[in-house]
Amino acid sequence: MPGRPRQRFLRRISVKKVLLLFCAVFVVTAVAQETPAPQVTVIRAGTLIDGKSDKPRRDQVIVIRGNKIESVSDAATAKTPASATVIDLSQLTVLPGLIDSHTHLFLQGEDPAKGGYDANILTAPLSLRAARATVSARRALEQGFTTLRDVETEGSGYGDVGIKQAINAGYIPGPRLFVATRAISTTGGYMLEGYAPELTMPKGAQIADGPVETRKAAREELDHGADWIKVYMTHRSWVGKNGELVSQPTLTVEELRAVVDETHGWGRKVACHAYGGIGLHRALDGGCDSIEHGLDLDDAAISQMVKQGTWYVPTLAVYYTDWAPADTPDGQRDRLRASAHEVSFKKALQAGVKIVFGTDMGGIPWTEPIAQEFSRMVEFGMRPMDAIQSATSHAAVMLEMENKIGVVAPGAYADIIAVNGDPLRDIKLLESVQFVMKDGQVFRGK
Ligand SMILES: [Zn+2]
Repeated sequence: MPGRPRQRFLRRISVKKVLLLFCAVFVVTAVAQETPAPQVTVIRAGTLIDGKSDKPRRDQVIVIRGNKIESVSDAATAKTPASATVIDLSQLTVLPGLIDSHTHLFLQGEDPAKGGYDANILTAPLSLRAARATVSARRALEQGFTTLRDVETEGSGYGDVGIKQAINAGYIPGPRLFVATRAISTTGGYMLEGYAPELTMPKGAQIADGPVETRKAAREELDHGADWIKVYMTHRSWVGKNGELVSQPTLTVEELRAVVDETHGWGRKVACHAYGGIGLHRALDGGCDSIEHGLDLDDAAISQMVKQGTWYVPTLAVYYTDWAPADTPDGQRDRLRASAHEVSFKKALQAGVKIVFGTDMGGIPWTEPIAQEFSRMVEFGMRPMDAIQSATSHAAVMLEMENKIGVVAPGAYADIIAVNGDPLRDIKLLESVQFVMKDGQVFRGK
């Protein structure tokens, strides 16, 4: 009976089709229910420093839809959607979320009396270090730093990639992260050191020698999620015969070029720790995108930085902490570092080097205010508005996030903070942020 099975088959098909149709309708309805219209929030800003323009504006209304800023306009003419949640910051100064472009979430300002840096690597389980990094990330966000460029994990491997994933997936609160993973230095170019030569000690950075190894190290780090590559171009420093600051160079130009060439090929950038002298000049000749610390910038280095468009992330404040006693070689070096740094910063500012805000938090305990760096920058001659832009729109350009972060303007992510008073008059106010929003979500305040 050939007809019947076919009929049954057809019946089965049609039942299947109907079921499928039901399923499709159910899925579409479910998806529609799961994605409601994005939330609309309106912020009334007493004063707005938008991160980009040179002048603050009074009485502004910021409309936020979902995680993006939709419009910014004068309160007098602003149209606010009826269903919007209103956040009244009309008594405060509103700014973009701040960006710290030099941090170490996996360091905690290790106390030398408790074994310092070495004990952290030798005794702390990775889970403990990750737990502490989680707290550091939260600390940054509650202080109004909605983006960090975290420049290496100091022996915690790819822990920063995991912390970034945990933040992005909403498991833990924290800033947007640009991570550098392990960082690269040469044999003799990083801690742990000073142990018996028979022992193979773990190192805080990835050690590589020769251009083949340094390129491979960069490839590995990029492969495992590095957004930036960090390279140590100088290591130890001391006071030289003529009272000058001397720094031991690490990678050769060839070793660095291999890293830069590889990293640029991936569309990423290279941050170079360099104090001064030979290592700094190799960093510039090798094509580093940013110079970290740059304590001792000579005139040739400054003009090369201007010519090449190299970013300068000075991290001033950290060099004013934990000085050894004045009558010791280390104590003299510590004081010389700070005084040379001041001269370098002033010269770089004068010459128009592109300066970006960075702190070396982690070198400074995360319990301290991140924004203390602003006071040093202003003390050394930077206009408060320029200091703010070094931590907002200028940093965003370095991170290739221009108009997406570091600015309160239509189309940007709704990363917004507020302080009580005028930070252009008193930059220290940035150390006591009253309100923090990241991605349209209020984290602190109202
Ligand atoms: Zn650092």
